[in-house]
Amino acid sequence: MTLTTQQRNELRERMQREIDGLEESIARLEQGLNPVAPDAAIGRLSRLDTMLNQGINQSSLSQSRTRLVRLQHALKRIDDPDFGTCAECGEAIPIARLLALPECDCCVECAE
Ligand SMILES: [Zn+2]
Repeated sequence: MTLTTQQRNELRERMQREIDGLEESIARLEQGLNPVAPDAAIGRLSRLDTMLNQGINQSSLSQSRTRLVRLQHALKRIDDPDFGTCAECGEAIPIARLLALPECDCCVECAE
């Protein structure tokens, strides 16, 4: 056991907050992702703009979704005795790294 109960609780809270925030921004991004209406009134250029913005939204959306899944996964594992140890080398991951990137299951060395 590398983490104290207090550290685990802190991490759990942190992850829950991040998950809530991600779910919120995913919902917002999804609302901005309505199909571009083939409406001549908005004009060709602004239609192109809209499509470009949607491309950007689409990629932050998929990034947010990936992070959300990883965080949810990490949150489920937080009570495992080996949570907080590197999946590659088995060394303890520093609490500062866990707090900054709770979804990571590798130490800095192995992540590189
Ligand atoms: Zn490692």
